[in-house]
Amino acid sequence: MALTKYECNAHMHSFLKELPKCEHHLHLEGTLEPDLLFKMATRNNIQLPSSFPTTVAQCKAKYEDFADLQDFLDHYYVGMSVLITEEDFYDLAMTYFAKAKEDGCLHSEVFFDPQGHLQRGIEFDVVVSGFNRACEDAKIKFGTTNKLIMCLLRHLPSSDGIQVIESAGKYYQDGIIHGLGLDSSEKPFPPELFENCYALLKENHPHVELTAHAGEEGDHTFVERSLDTLKVTRIDHGVNSKHSESLMKRLNEKQIMLSLCPLSNVKLQVVPDVGHLPIDVFMEKGVPFSINSDDPAYFGGYILDNYVAVHTRFGFSLEQWKQISLNGINGSWCDEGRKQELRSLVEVVCTKYARIID
Ligand SMILES: [Zn+2]
Repeated sequence: MALTKYECNAHMHSFLKELPKCEHHLHLEGTLEPDLLFKMATRNNIQLPSSFPTTVAQCKAKYEDFADLQDFLDHYYVGMSVLITEEDFYDLAMTYFAKAKEDGCLHSEVFFDPQGHLQRGIEFDVVVSGFNRACEDAKIKFGTTNKLIMCLLRHLPSSDGIQVIESAGKYYQDGIIHGLGLDSSEKPFPPELFENCYALLKENHPHVELTAHAGEEGDHTFVERSLDTLKVTRIDHGVNSKHSESLMKRLNEKQIMLSLCPLSNVKLQVVPDVGHLPIDVFMEKGVPFSINSDDPAYFGGYILDNYVAVHTRFGFSLEQWKQISLNGINGSWCDEGRKQELRSLVEVVCTKYARIID
């Protein structure tokens, strides 16, 4: 199913672009665009399967029109197979950081899936050193700040998760990896399965930040159980929270941020259109959320595209957008000094556009 185009007027588009944004739900492996994929396949001498598109144009067309979730995953795993060297991981992350800066995203907290690489015989150090070097260079080159969040694949056993957490110990110690997340198919693998992984990491590294995908496929109890069992302080997706008044109240009272991914939800058929998401309800009930791109190379848009899609359907005022931007900053895991810098920039942009927009 081809994606609907979402467009807004030129003034609004430049406001949304300039508005300082933070991204909290972005899988680095999901930013692999077809041109980089073919470039890496060539330089690493990798023969792609015969069923895979052979040109960038064919590949882009395919990504616009996945038959189903399995079709997407099949292409996603072929994409991962071209990532071999430290330079590949560096190039992948740097390409995303450049694009994020272009979209006005000044702080990103990005996921990566070490198990998907370890299974292919790629060493943990190769993955992390490439990604970490890109974080450092992006700060110098683009002035953006970035943090790495390691995710566990929930379709693998928690014993595998424990091993990965142990391998990552020195990176958590040095602050190179900042948080832990939980991704991949949600419904058959409830949060309780990973309670031991989360508890072990928190015990060894009390400063670590915790999050988990919940309430996208799973119902609202997956959100509650992630908060109660895994002790997370943020929820990735969480759209099904809308079905519980008491949960909505809890999210509001504790200011637990949901990292929403509107275009991804449409592409994976969580909802038929961005307008069907409960974004206005979250806004009205004071549930903080940020707007994110998830796997942008595959799901039809980066962070600005997601902001534009939301505006097209919900038509928020400048004041409401300011609140969304501030909520994203407040819910970030950067230090207070950086948050202050970002808040001041929001003030500057909103003052500039106040007379133009409202
Ligand atoms: Zn995700």
